[in-house]
Amino acid sequence: MTDEQTRADALAALQHTTFFPYWLDNSQRPREEPALQENLSCDLLIVGGGFTGLWAAVQAKEANPAREVILIEASSIAIGASGRPAAILSTSVMHGLQNAQRLYPDDMEELERLGKENLDGFRETIERYGIDCDLEWGGELTVAIGDEGLADIAKEHELYCHYGHDAHLLDAESVRREVRSPLFSGGLWSKKRSGTVHPAKLAWGLKRVALELGVQIYENTPMVSNRKKSGGVEVTTPCGRVLANRVLLATNAFAAGNRKIRKRVAAIRDRIVVTEPLSEEQMAAIGWHNRQGIYDTRTQLNYMRLTADNRILFGGRLDYFFGNNTDPAEDRTPDPYLRLIDNFYRTFPMLRGVRFTHAWSGPIALTTRMAVHYQHYHGGRMLYAGGYSGFGVTATRFGARVALAILDDRKVPERALKFARSQPAYIPPEPFRWIGAKITMYALDTLDEKGGWRVPWVRMVERMGFPVTQK
Ligand SMILES: Cc1cc2nc3c(=O)[nH]c(=O)nc-3n(C[C@H](O)[C@H](O)[C@H](O)COP(=O)(O)OP(=O)(O)OC[C@H]3O[C@@H](n4cnc5c(N)ncnc54)[C@H](O)[C@@H]3O)c2cc1C
Repeated sequence: MTDEQTRADALAALQHTTFFPYWLDNSQRPREEPALQENLSCDLLIVGGGFTGLWAAVQAKEANPAREVILIEASSIAIGASGRPAAILSTSVMHGLQNAQRLYPDDMEELERLGKENLDGFRETIERYGIDCDLEWGGELTVAIGDEGLADIAKEHELYCHYGHDAHLLDAESVRREVRSPLFSGGLWSKKRSGTVHPAKLAWGLKRVALELGVQIYENTPMVSNRKKSGGVEVTTPCGRVLANRVLLATNAFAAGNRKIRKRVAAIRDRIVVTEPLSEEQMAAIGWHNRQGIYDTRTQLNYMRLTADNRILFGGRLDYFFGNNTDPAEDRTPDPYLRLIDNFYRTFPMLRGVRFTHAWSGPIALTTRMAVHYQHYHGGRMLYAGGYSGFGVTATRFGARVALAILDDRKVPERALKFARSQPAYIPPEPFRWIGAKITMYALDTLDEKGGWRVPWVRMVERMGFPVTQK
């Protein structure tokens, strides 16, 4: 925090805050499906009721309505990352164009085509099933902070144009005509195939569709163990077992408790605050008529968007807890959010005094790849699909579709691409993981202002495979 006054203002603004996701704190939240209480068998068992699991369930049934599909969720649908994101939509299925180019320069044309196809399919599915999820197509706006930020967006603009995106560079005056922040020195607005969504309403809508298509869903049903058996894989839950021909582990960051998965996946978390609905005067003061999803170019980046009822969601405060701990209870006090609110005040000084109604953290499955990968178990009958690293609201649809093709051993062109045939790098185990994560997060927090030892440290982390300063 910069000064005592800011700290006091932030604490006052957090006085009546609910430390739970705004998205899930909604009267439209559907009733939970009963827990599994018997032994069953099926062709496909999906473990995890976030976007990966739900998209897999819907797509599996659409492809073959006769297929017996069961989905089990440890708690309730969308309780993980899927009910907690900013939910800014991205065309990329590989965590952005720059990340895709870093990893798969030879597959770029195809990945771009697949990304556009995925986003169009995402939209078409939502419209076809009439899922009411506050979709808005205002585009994605990357805002530059300082001169270095301007260089970043100019480079990104070239890439966007090369791959045929409807992307426009904005100077300081034009970007502030879009959103009035004294911090923004320029912008890159990608106008087509991106925007925002209410993630929980989307997940609940997908749940409704999956049930209508005949998927059996059991909530409060955690997978406790699994083993290979004749006829498939047997998954044990507290009050019942499922024998499945194929199993998809759609457990994302929560799978970092699994010894094999956590070698390549670290469960970090990110934080978000949401304001009360802004008044007409407050909205007039900030502009934002085109309602884009926004990222900035700071090293420890912030992202922001409007909700349907004109609250500002403001996020970006990474942290790591020892042993890949994903328990959001760690973040139910004001303290972890004070720095985030400090950044909010710098971004929107005219909104100092606004109250924050909700604050929460969410688990992010981080890999050196920052995008989906697959891990095989039990001779290929069980597959883990995850690691979207903070960019999965649309990419999970693609990740799930390819996961089904791998599980069913179908020869689709996507399986020939490098992302489907390779693995992200190993991440050091504890206690080195915790120590490294803490130093890196501190370095990222203060890199822009202080430089010094932070620069070689961050370069070293990037050489290990984590593109931590990539926007
Ligand atoms: C703070 C934050 C901001 C984000 N912002 C964006 C954004 O703006 N844009 C974007 O595209 N992406 C964003 N993301 C990322 C996006 O939310 C995720 O990539 C996506 O939701 C991942 O979906 P998933 O189904 O793979 O994982 P999850 O939604 O985490 O689902 C995994 C599910 O598995 C269940 N589970 C775990 N273990 C078991 C078990 N043993 N048995 C049964 N079930 C189990 C969990 O309870 C959970 O429901 C953000 C994420 C966070 C946390």
